[in-house]
Amino acid sequence: MSDHAVDVLIIGGGIAGVSVAAKLAPHATVAVLETETQLGFHASGRSAALYEPNYGSPSTIALNKASGDELQSLDVLSPRGVMLIGTEGQDAAFEQDLRTFEMAELSLEDGLRHWPILNPKVVRRVGFDDRALDIDTDKLLQSYAKHARRAGASILTNRAVTAIERSSVGWAVTAGKTRIIAQTLINAAGAWADQIAILANVTPLGLQPRRRSMARIPGPEGYDLSKAPMIFGPGEEWYAKPDAGALLVSPADETPVDPHDAFTDDITIATGIAAFEAHMTHSTERLLASWAGLRTFAPDGNLVLGRDPALPGFVWCAGQGGYGMQSAPAAARHVASIVLGTSPELTAAETAALAPSRFS
Ligand SMILES: Cc1cc2nc3c(=O)[nH]c(=O)nc-3n(C[C@H](O)[C@H](O)[C@H](O)COP(=O)(O)OP(=O)(O)OC[C@H]3O[C@@H](n4cnc5c(N)ncnc54)[C@H](O)[C@@H]3O)c2cc1C
Repeated sequence: MSDHAVDVLIIGGGIAGVSVAAKLAPHATVAVLETETQLGFHASGRSAALYEPNYGSPSTIALNKASGDELQSLDVLSPRGVMLIGTEGQDAAFEQDLRTFEMAELSLEDGLRHWPILNPKVVRRVGFDDRALDIDTDKLLQSYAKHARRAGASILTNRAVTAIERSSVGWAVTAGKTRIIAQTLINAAGAWADQIAILANVTPLGLQPRRRSMARIPGPEGYDLSKAPMIFGPGEEWYAKPDAGALLVSPADETPVDPHDAFTDDITIATGIAAFEAHMTHSTERLLASWAGLRTFAPDGNLVLGRDPALPGFVWCAGQGGYGMQSAPAAARHVASIVLGTSPELTAAETAALAPSRFS
């Protein structure tokens, strides 16, 4: 086994780790270690791929909004829009979401123009916002990987980290036959971030992976919904989104689980499809595919970005929850500024809301 030394070693080849690698590689020697044989195999490859800037806690919204320009410049955004669907008895939750997402209320007729298969006997109210955009998440991940590699980063797949020790330089990290010495270790291991902390003898933060399931069903015959907005029920009860001629439908489940290669089950998928169909004039004949991914949350729901208070050479880039794609550019810039010691773009209050020290 030969030792390889870098300034910064990043654990995790999802959007979090790869975007930070792209930001740091022009300024430092960087390596990324990823368990799987491909990047983005877990949460980053399973998302609904939406950019909705007003989704999340205030610090997440700040990251989302600060990410918009970079996502535009990477040419990964395209029009989508988002529509809120309220039924009888849902007024309070509907109005809450209308405010949170700064949506305009439409007439049911206008709602039907966007989604012609809405059932007017069931749907009472419709909210709409055209600022939500689709993200080409694969292009985003690959574009950060390309930037990182061009700037000299090594991105190594099929390298599960199994041991982390303190060394005279900082850290000695073992992944199979690879051993890397690094001054700074960045924990971008998604659902496994607390496990990485335990391996490094760092106090875990209580990150909770939550399973979310997705079904892909055929689009309704005779209707072209390809340009239709994503739709969701008040309080994020369920959602559906056009996807290349088909529809993605989710029960918006948030089942707490241990980190693993997530999969869904028939009952959860049936629940999501039933919730969707309850609002539509059409039913679904068949399932094209189904999957699940883990959305991992810190106890307060904010991302965790920054140096560990007890071991400053250990940097957290975790707790991306359901916002990791849309917040990635600003989150990566923030982590890079902390590692490089440059002044962060975020306010002191936002920085504190994201810092791991808030748990100590
Ligand atoms: C169904 C669903 C819908 C979503 N919709 C959206 C959306 O519309 N918009 C949005 O912005 N976000 C969305 N998200 C959230 C987003 O996908 C995540 O926040 C984001 O992908 C998290 O990225 P990550 O890099 O932290 O985690 P991951 O992509 O899971 O990457 C972490 C990586 O670390 C690796 N790793 C773990 N342990 C080790 C180890 N010991 N050694 C080496 N590597 C290791 C794993 O193999 C994994 O590849 C959604 C998520 C799901 C599941």
